Amino acid sequence: MDFFPLFLRLTDQPVVVIGGGEVAARKVSLLHRAGARITVVSPALCASLQDSMARHELQHLAEEFRPDHLDGMRLVVAATNVHEVNAWVSRQAELRNIPVNVVDNRELSRFIMPAIVDRSPVIVAIGSSGDAPVLTRRLREKIEALLPTGIGKLAKLSGELRSKVKQQVSSADARRRFWERFFDGDIATDLLAGRDQQAHQSVDMAIESAIKQQLNTSEKNSPQGEIALVGAGPGDPGLLTLRALRVMQNADVVVYDRLVSAEVLDLVRRDAQRIYVGKEANKAYVSQQDINQLLVDLAKQGKRVCRLKGGDPFVFGRGGEELELLAKQGIRFEVVPGITAAAGCAAYAGIPLTHRDHAQLLTFATGHIRHGDNGEAATMLPMDWNLLARDHQTAVFYMGLNGLADIVRELQAHGAPASRAVAVIEHGTRSNQRVIVATLATLVETVRNAQVQSPALLIVGEVTRLHEQLQWFNTTAIQAQADREHIGE
Ligand code: SAH
Repeated sequence: MDFFPLFLRLTDQPVVVIGGGEVAARKVSLLHRAGARITVVSPALCASLQDSMARHELQHLAEEFRPDHLDGMRLVVAATNVHEVNAWVSRQAELRNIPVNVVDNRELSRFIMPAIVDRSPVIVAIGSSGDAPVLTRRLREKIEALLPTGIGKLAKLSGELRSKVKQQVSSADARRRFWERFFDGDIATDLLAGRDQQAHQSVDMAIESAIKQQLNTSEKNSPQGEIALVGAGPGDPGLLTLRALRVMQNADVVVYDRLVSAEVLDLVRRDAQRIYVGKEANKAYVSQQDINQLLVDLAKQGKRVCRLKGGDPFVFGRGGEELELLAKQGIRFEVVPGITAAAGCAAYAGIPLTHRDHAQLLTFATGHIRHGDNGEAATMLPMDWNLLARDHQTAVFYMGLNGLADIVRELQAHGAPASRAVAVIEHGTRSNQRVIVATLATLVETVRNAQVQSPALLIVGEVTRLHEQLQWFNTTAIQAQADREHIGE
């Protein structure tokens, strides 16, 4: 972070702008919106600054800059067209520890001004640390289009209600729920649609119901949390569902796995607590039992928990086991499906999972080797190899990397030809995705040579041959990359 973002209250504070041209005028107009007491130092003023002066928005000193113009100022803006003067202003301000902005010169600036979307009191500020002003302006336009016009009214009403709600609803939990209802429910809908009167009526009702709810929960003396089992998809954050995003942004706690990508995790509410319970093959990990218990404990503390899992929580995700215990304890839960690795990887690799010419049956299987628990030998989970080896179908193996040789051996032993086409997709849908194609005969060696890492998905079937044919025109991954860069702008 090259610049620290903050919002500064400038109401009635003295600020000085050195320079009297159009550039200075733009800064003056912004500073005026913030209520600053503005002095402009410049031998002459452009037309728009003269207008501002006529409206008493600034005080004009028709002089050349002198260092003592800075005395007592909160902020300094240097906006002359003479570089040496701007540099001098900057040096003098730095000497006095007064934050200075030199227009279009970040080296000489202590602070820079972001592009803003002003729906006061809601203000969105966008900066690129001075690297890409055009880009920040484009982003601003997008955000501008995205934000409903009434959002400022909504924030204002929230500000007016804060102390009243705090007084009447003493439990922090009930208060939080009130605000969720405020922003997600009728009140917001009415205000944003311009039905102010109705919105204000709903407010009183919502406060009353929060007070009631608070009495109820304190009677029972056990606030109940909520658990959402959420599919985070295979990695590309663009594959999250809207519902997943909403839960992630409302959570108090996020309990996540190794398969949840850093980019997805980045979209979790900033101040949510994050608990990592990832499992790594052959390493010590938080046991499933401990995870189940952790979820129960968090719910009993009244937390809103987002249990974030790679892909879909019900596809080889042990989601069912976690829910069983919750149900047994009478804890409410919700399941948000996600895009499972097979669907995500196939799309990004250009491998249709079914195809009228090649595959009429699709199987998701686990290639997981069960590590002997109490000293037992590692074994493949029992599977219907006769079925999986047949042609005209696609078999997708999750967690197949360690058991690759066994899978190949079993398939061939049950009649699959050595020439059967296969593909391994490593880090599917992520920026470092690799697609490796082979046949059953060459798979083990090809994967070894390519040093494939986990997570990787094995797709067995003739549909994988379409990858070569489709890849040149398949822009899914490229498009996703472009979107990602967009998110990171
Ligand atoms: N619930 C998850 C699967 C969990 S099992 C889902 O629905 O996708 C873990 C296995 O999923 C990994 O071993 C790997 O085979 C596969 N997998 C998950 N994410 C993947 C990714 N981004 N690329 C390739 N394989 C992935």
